[in-house]
Amino acid sequence: MGIIRKTKSTAVLLAEFEKSSDAISATDLIRRLHSKMNKTTVYRLLDKLEDDDVVHSFLDSRGQKWYGKGKKCSHKENFKRHLHFECLSCGKVECLDLDVDIPEIPRREVKTFQILVQGRCETCLIESEVTV
Ligand SMILES: [Zn+2]
Ligand SMILES: [Zn+2]
Repeated sequence: MGIIRKTKSTAVLLAEFEKSSDAISATDLIRRLHSKMNKTTVYRLLDKLEDDDVVHSFLDSRGQKWYGKGKKCSHKENFKRHLHFECLSCGKVECLDLDVDIPEIPRREVKTFQILVQGRCETCLIESEVTV
């Protein structure tokens, strides 16, 4: 594990993750930060932060890359074992505080895995109840 250099760009990027508990897509991050840094820098920083286990990435149903910040428990093993939820109504993607048990796979080294739960988020469920 490398040591994260707290550069100004890193701080700016991480601040985006502090704003909400939702995950952020790479495309959205680039759009939000375009006035401060270019696309290459965003990707480079994300790679570095992922190496250092500050953020983790996963793919949604369209193959788009999303990034989430480690939750309260930033222990390497733990925070890579939670579920991701994609809302099919509003497109929001969240890191859930629900752990998944990944079995030991004989003679294989697991680097990453994708578990994406899809459905409707809390907000969309409330909205649909109101309109019924
Ligand atoms: Zn929703
Ligand atoms: Zn996550």
